[in-house]
Amino acid sequence: MRSGEEHHDVVIVGGGICGLATALALHRKGVKSLVLERSDRIRATGAAIGVFMNGWCALDRLGVGAVLRDKTIPIPEIQEVWHRKSAMQVKSTRIEEFRCLKRTDLIQALFDNLPVDSVRLGCQIVAVERDPSTSFPILYVHDGIIIKAKVLIGCDGSNSVISKSLGLGSLNSLPNCVIRGLTNYPNGHNLESHFLRHLDGYMAFGRIPIDDNLVHWFVDWPYPNRDIDAPKDPKFLMELAMQQIKDYPAEMIEMVKSSDPSSLNLTRIRYRSPWHLVFGNFRRGTMTVAGDAMHMMGPFLGQGGCVAMEDAVVLARNLAQAMPMGLEGGRVGDGELKKRIETALENYVRERKPRVLKLAMQSMLVGILISSSSKIKRLLSLALLLVFFGGASLSYTRYDCGPL
Ligand SMILES: Cc1cc2nc3c(=O)[nH]c(=O)nc-3n(C[C@H](O)[C@H](O)[C@H](O)COP(=O)(O)OP(=O)(O)OC[C@H]3O[C@@H](n4cnc5c(N)ncnc54)[C@H](O)[C@@H]3O)c2cc1C
Repeated sequence: MRSGEEHHDVVIVGGGICGLATALALHRKGVKSLVLERSDRIRATGAAIGVFMNGWCALDRLGVGAVLRDKTIPIPEIQEVWHRKSAMQVKSTRIEEFRCLKRTDLIQALFDNLPVDSVRLGCQIVAVERDPSTSFPILYVHDGIIIKAKVLIGCDGSNSVISKSLGLGSLNSLPNCVIRGLTNYPNGHNLESHFLRHLDGYMAFGRIPIDDNLVHWFVDWPYPNRDIDAPKDPKFLMELAMQQIKDYPAEMIEMVKSSDPSSLNLTRIRYRSPWHLVFGNFRRGTMTVAGDAMHMMGPFLGQGGCVAMEDAVVLARNLAQAMPMGLEGGRVGDGELKKRIETALENYVRERKPRVLKLAMQSMLVGILISSSSKIKRLLSLALLLVFFGGASLSYTRYDCGPL
């Protein structure tokens, strides 16, 4: 156990998409930050991520859009195949800008654009409290180190220590889980460049080409063993996925069979209830949350990561507006600094709440529609989706988070 105390201006807990995007956004605005990540390397769980127009807009603002577009092909269409009792029904929807990225490419691009020493790996935060004399946050690291910060941003995902300390309720679970993977076709996959999704009762099976060789696929179905830890053994995950898709065309079965075992991952579907977003407190003093730590949502709209990057841009814009010269340059007393940061974080929360609430609501309704066994719940969800969200409209992707 080590001991000692460190002082930093802006501390971000979590080096996932949101934490790194927030650090990069702050860096672009001249505000220095330190990211604390519990893993001992920069890593990305979940193979790949679909990025819609709003996500690309945020990536452009972060200055990494162009380099990431080079790693993917555009996907202009979603093709949904509904397996009805009597027949299959195919529905095609045009998408404005949609591409699928390898998660490691996204994480690496964000990381590569940060100054050296911006990220501290192997650093797990175990508790957080407010300094009784200054009200600024104090973080306790697993190895005994104490870190005092002026601003604390919790980007620590679904089991966020920071959300808990803000008093946000625990997450809800859906019965479904998802296995995701990547398959490489050395001689090219020759697939059409669309996002194909089969919807068959409570199960969904889909694939999206990333480039001319690499394809991302996923299988989503009700997983009975909810009490045990999510299995990680690639052989077991492969068998589990194969069981779900055994009646699908041979080329789709072959795709799963040939996937890279190290890319396989099983995730249970959890979400923060929209009521928490309405009534929850997303800021206390100079501490706030972003990304999944704030608004974990099911994967049904493919928006969690895109919205996390929007959070990063909005948060950095507000913080930098409050401190135009950065914390180090803006020579103000602690009292004045605290007031400015609180106002900036309050503005951030006010700007984000309506956006994430709408998405969380829509995502929850789609989740119920796909996975609930109750016909009444499904009909009610469908009615609410039609009335409030225009059915299956992708209008939520046409969102500009504004300049940095
Ligand atoms: C099946 C599935 C499919 C999805 N598909 C899409 C999609 O197509 N498009 C999309 O936009 N979104 C998608 N999402 C959502 C997206 O993956 C998440 O919203 C996004 O990864 C959230 O990023 P984050 O940085 O907030 O959290 P995370 O990625 O969970 O990162 C949190 C980080 O914090 C670290 N951490 C946690 N606790 C601590 C601690 N105490 N101390 C230090 N570090 C800590 C973790 O190690 C981790 O690195 C999907 C989600 C799922 C489950």
